[in-house]
Amino acid sequence: MKALVKAERKPGLWLQDVPVPELGPNDLLIQVRKTAICGTDIHIFNWDPWSQKTIPVPMVIGHEFTGEVAALGSAVTGFTKGERVSAEGHVTCGHCRNCRAGKRHLCRNAVGLGVQRAGCFAEYVAVPAFNAFRVPKEIPDDVAAFFDPLGNAVHTALSFDLVGEDVLITGAGPIGVMAAAIARHVGARHVVVTDVNDYRLGLARRMGASRAINVGGGASIESTMKELGMTEGFDVGLEMSGNAAALRSLLASMNHGGRVALLGIPTGEVGIDMNQVIFKGLVLKGIYGREMFETWYKMSAMLTSGLDVSPVLTHRFEAEDYLKAFDVMRSGQSGKVVLDWS
Ligand code: NAD
Ligand code: ZN
Repeated sequence: MKALVKAERKPGLWLQDVPVPELGPNDLLIQVRKTAICGTDIHIFNWDPWSQKTIPVPMVIGHEFTGEVAALGSAVTGFTKGERVSAEGHVTCGHCRNCRAGKRHLCRNAVGLGVQRAGCFAEYVAVPAFNAFRVPKEIPDDVAAFFDPLGNAVHTALSFDLVGEDVLITGAGPIGVMAAAIARHVGARHVVVTDVNDYRLGLARRMGASRAINVGGGASIESTMKELGMTEGFDVGLEMSGNAAALRSLLASMNHGGRVALLGIPTGEVGIDMNQVIFKGLVLKGIYGREMFETWYKMSAMLTSGLDVSPVLTHRFEAEDYLKAFDVMRSGQSGKVVLDWS
């Protein structure tokens, strides 16, 4: 089969012929239809320091996908051939304390699809049947292809009650703008999104942000709050940039008793003013991945009851044109970029 392989320990990705993955007794073999590119894939393409210490080479990469069940391992029940599925990309151990408590997103031994085990940028991918998620018929392939990052947005945004609350989202990347749409969908009042990239702020507005402001171009959170008639501070903050300055400004803009969910991954240690946290009584919560599988059910329920994330999908390419797709992703002038493997 054709697959995008990190074949050498240097920048680049190569479209190669590789064997179809072997199917364990508990696995599904899935014929891939559509995949989406994640920031992680860009790190692996660029062969940055994180990739150098994390990715065994050769490795078929990719973890955002949808496809159809092509074969079932001998012990698999509950799925049939031809069903349309996506899958959770974190393969958990099942025997640590958190796994046994049903809190799989807190597994200490999680392995990443397309990171530490063969991924989905390929004609076929094998995943534990436990990880597969049936896609409702109303949801198009193009959207199901990015269930994984949409799930990050859902997990983060639904960490705290947003009904009637003022929400600040720092970072208008694909996940930040999807979080804006979710906050709007579930009934937040003001949804303010910050970034330093005007293209992405445009997407945030199309996804339902009350205000999308360029904090690198003179706009400030403080003046936006005044414009909106906000006198106290944000009730809920969602950090989705990984940028230290963004996190500091978010903490400074929170109301007393505010709740903050942290998804963005900084490249190094970040210093914050602990006085903001202590004297305001802020609650900070780190977010990793998606809750298995509450996030997946909430996500598909919202998509089939009016949540529209389609503006975030900005580019589509054939799989062979992956180099163009990766260039678009790296330009910052894109939302989600989908590759067609059918
Ligand atoms: P992305 O890199 O596309 O988006 C980040 C955005 O932050 C960019 O648009 C960038 O311009 C913006 N930004 C940079 N400096 C800023 C500043 N000072 N103020 C406001 N915005 C600023 O990433 P994404 O795919 O949307 O993911 C969002 C973040 O979540 C990334 O940091 C990513 O690494 C992280 N992530 C975490 C998990 C997890 O499980 N915790 C999963 C996926 C992604
Ligand atoms: Zn575990």
